[in-house]
Amino acid sequence: MINLRATGDWLKQSGIKAQELLDGSKVQEARSLFALPKLDVRSKTGIWEKQNARLQRRLVRVYDQWSRQTRLAIEAIPGATKWQIEGIVRRSAPALQARLQQTIDVSLLGLIKNVPNPSGALGFTLLNQRKVAAEAISSSLMPGITNGLVSSVQAGATDFRQVFRALRFRPAQHAGSHWVALFEVQKILGLEREQHRRLNGQAAERVKWVLDPNAVHCSDSPGHFGCIGLAGIYNSWGALPAVPAGQVTCRGNCRCVIAVEVGKRWVRGVPGL
Ligand SMILES: [Zn+2]
Repeated sequence: MINLRATGDWLKQSGIKAQELLDGSKVQEARSLFALPKLDVRSKTGIWEKQNARLQRRLVRVYDQWSRQTRLAIEAIPGATKWQIEGIVRRSAPALQARLQQTIDVSLLGLIKNVPNPSGALGFTLLNQRKVAAEAISSSLMPGITNGLVSSVQAGATDFRQVFRALRFRPAQHAGSHWVALFEVQKILGLEREQHRRLNGQAAERVKWVLDPNAVHCSDSPGHFGCIGLAGIYNSWGALPAVPAGQVTCRGNCRCVIAVEVGKRWVRGVPGL
C-alpha cells in the first residue's frame, strides 16, 4: 500500500488520484514528482519505517554521488558527442550497481543483528532475499537508470544536472526490498518461536495482518494477494498466506505490518527481537 498521509501533499497538488497510482495509469506523472527533493514518502512512525526511510535516503545518496562523478566526467570533455556521453554512462554503471547492492546488503544484515543464534533457515531466507534484491537491481533498476539517461541524451538534453536528477526516484523505490525481507525474517523467527513453544507444551500465538489506516489498499491480481483480503487474525505464523510486500499486488509499496498477540496485547513483530 502506498502511504497517503506521507504522500498526501504532493498528491493533492498533482491532482493524481490514489487509484490512478495503484492501477498504473498515472505512474509516469507520479515518477516525475518523485524526482522532487522530498523523496521520503514512508511513514515517520515506528522503528521499521525509520529503518526503511534511512535505507531510501542512503540509496538516493549513493545515486547522487555517482551522478555527480559521472556528470563531471561528461563535462570534462568539452563538446562531447552523444556516443561519448553514452559510453561514460555505461562504463560507470557497474560502480553504481556495486554500491547500491552493498547498501542493500548492509541493511539486510542489519535485520538479524540482534538475533542471538541465527539458524540455517534464517540465513537461507536472508540469502534468498538478497538474491531477489540483486535481481531487481540488475534487471530493473540499472537498465532503468542507464536507458533513462541515454535516451535523454539521445533526445538532445544538455542540462545534465536535470537529466540525472529526473531519475532519483528509481533507487528510492528499491528500499521496498528491505520491507519484504523484514517480514520474511520475522516469519522465520516466528515459526522458530512457535516450534519452541510447542516443544514446551505452549500454544502458538495468534498473528494479525494490520492495514495502514492512511494507505490505499490493494486487491487480488493474478498470482498475487490483495492486502485488503489478507487483513485479519491468523492462528499462527504458519497460517499466513503471504507477508507484507511479498506476494501481494502492491509489492514493495506495501505499508502493512504483522502484529503478534502476546498475552492480551498485540505487539509489532516477533517478541524479544
Ligand atoms: Zn499491503
